[in-house]
Amino acid sequence: MEEPITQRRLVPRQSTTPCLCISCNKMIPANELHYVEEGVHAHLHTLIARRFCSRCYSMHGERLIA
Ligand SMILES: [Zn+2]
Repeated sequence: MEEPITQRRLVPRQSTTPCLCISCNKMIPANELHYVEEGVHAHLHTLIARRFCSRCYSMHGERLIA
């Protein structure tokens, strides 16, 4: 039996530092609401968690991580 892929979801965050949206490659300014990938049952390391801007999230929602 293979390990199931870690189930993920997107959670809203506000960052104190600017970061890049991995979907549209745009800068997400500091203090702007964006969405961060998070493991549902297991902790996902912050460094590998993908970030998405609110615009991409409003267009694609959870399909961004499907
Ligand atoms: Zn984006």
